[in-house]
Amino acid sequence: MIQPQIARPEVTRHILKAFDLHASKRLGQNFLINPSVVKAIVSTAEIEEGDRVLEIGPGIGTLTQGLAEAGANVTAVEMDKKLPAVLAETLKGYDNVRIVQGDILKTNIPELMGDEPYKVVANLPYYITTPIIMTLLEKRLPITRIVTMVQREVADRMTARPGGKDYGSLSVAVQYYTEPELSLDVPPTSFYPSPAVDSAVMDCVVREKPPVAVRDERMFFLVVRASFAQRRKTLGNAIQGVGITREMAHAALERAGIDPQRRGETLTLDEFARLADAI
Ligand code: SAM
Repeated sequence: MIQPQIARPEVTRHILKAFDLHASKRLGQNFLINPSVVKAIVSTAEIEEGDRVLEIGPGIGTLTQGLAEAGANVTAVEMDKKLPAVLAETLKGYDNVRIVQGDILKTNIPELMGDEPYKVVANLPYYITTPIIMTLLEKRLPITRIVTMVQREVADRMTARPGGKDYGSLSVAVQYYTEPELSLDVPPTSFYPSPAVDSAVMDCVVREKPPVAVRDERMFFLVVRASFAQRRKTLGNAIQGVGITREMAHAALERAGIDPQRRGETLTLDEFARLADAI
C-alpha cells in the first residue's frame, strides 16, 4: 500500500481535518470507513490487474485506493470542485488513477472511457442513484459489470419480482439489461457521517443479450413507464399514456393475451415485451 488505508476511521478523520472538509449532505457525501466493505466491493467486482474502471464520486479516494491497489486503471469522476486537490494528495503515488472533475450526469462518458470494455464501481451519491443507473444502462456503453453501493431500499427495487410494491420501471430496466444480485448488506456505521438508511452492495453483470426479445426497445420502455406512471390504474387505462386511444390499448392487450383489468406491477418482462410488440 503506497498510502495509509483511507477506509480506516482515524485516517478519514485525519484527512477531513487536514483539508478542512465538511461532508456535504447536498452531494450525498457519506465516506466509507470500513476497510472490509471496500475489500468486499473490489472482490465482488472481480477486479484484476489492468481492468478498466469508471468510478463515480471518489470522495477522498477511499474506494479508489482499493481499486488501484487491486491493479485497476481507474477513471474517477467527482463533482465536488474541492476534492481533486485532496485526491492528488491522498492518492499520491498511484499512477493508475485519473481524476476528472464534473457531474457524471453531464459527462460525455463515451468520450471519457472510449470503446474498450470497462466496469463501473461506485459508492453512489444516493440523491441521484436512479438517474445514474438509468444513464449507464440506456446509453449502451461497453460496460460489463456495475457494482454499486446503493440504499437497501433501491437494492430491493432492482431485484424485485412482479406483484410487489418494489417492482417498477427500475426493476424492469435493471433486469432487462443486467443480472442483478445483492452482494452485501452494509449498516450505516460503515460510513462517516452515518446515513439515515441501510445500504447494500449490488452486483449487476451486464447481459450480452436481453432476456426477452422486443421489436422496438423504445416502445418497450414507453409501455413500462406508462404502466407504472399510474400504478393504481388498470393496464387498459394506463397504457393509453404511450399516446394511443382506449380502443387501441384494449386491442393491443387482447393481441398480447393480457387481461386489461390487470395492473402494470403484475407484468413479467416477457409480458411487457409482448404488449410492446402488440402496440
Ligand atoms: N467513494 C467515496 C467513498 O466511498 O467514501 C465517496 C462516496 S459518497 C457516497 C458520493 C460521492 O459522489 C461524493 O464524493 C460526492 O461529492 C460525489 N458526487 C455527488 N454527486 C455527483 C455527481 N453528480 N457526479 C459525480 N460525483 C458526484
